[in-house]
Amino acid sequence: MTLAEKYSYCIQKFEEYSPAPKTELTYSSPFDLLVAVILSAQCTDKRVNMITPALMKSFPTPLAMSQASENEIFNLIKSCSYPKNKAKHLKNMATMLHNEFHDEIPDDIDEMQKLPGVGRKTANVMAAVVFHKPAMAVDTHVFRVSARIGLVKNAKTPLETEKQLIKYIPDEKMHDMHHWLILHGRYTCKAIKPLCNRCKITAVCDYFNKNRGIFDK
Ligand code: SF4
Repeated sequence: MTLAEKYSYCIQKFEEYSPAPKTELTYSSPFDLLVAVILSAQCTDKRVNMITPALMKSFPTPLAMSQASENEIFNLIKSCSYPKNKAKHLKNMATMLHNEFHDEIPDDIDEMQKLPGVGRKTANVMAAVVFHKPAMAVDTHVFRVSARIGLVKNAKTPLETEKQLIKYIPDEKMHDMHHWLILHGRYTCKAIKPLCNRCKITAVCDYFNKNRGIFDK
């Protein structure tokens, strides 16, 4: 099987059991989503979804959030990881978004990364979800799962993973594939112990086939 065939097999299988994958973060505007994605670093979507309703009710716009004190933001997000840093990033991001981008999130990945707290992964999520661009955001799940399956070879950084993935995934499937890899990593191909016995892509998975003896026992 060629690498291109492996990609198309995985896309076909993912499509069969999850035809319409989407982010598990809840949001009602691009600004909401940007805040949620910043909060989601090293934190679960479930936790972020518990935090954002009160936060966005208090500071619904970039201007309102820029005028809040870091301490006010901190108090609303303190149950997530790294709340002090994230409160600072949110205030500074909202300030720049209001002052320099007229409250409009830029659709360019490099421009987006000028916003405090916005790295390449966050910018790619926004590009894909809000602007429907064929961008691949590589988080810990995407990085691990694509390496285990063998979609990506010897990638040392998320950027290397991103570059290899976008070479083979058709543009129109990029958005879905991002979610499929995340959901697969979150619920099946778990970090410590992958649940291979319920996985639909064992036939093409490098990790499974290399460790077949272990799984057969
Ligand atoms: S077979 Fe196992 S290691 Fe491979 S993708 Fe499925 S769950 Fe992950």
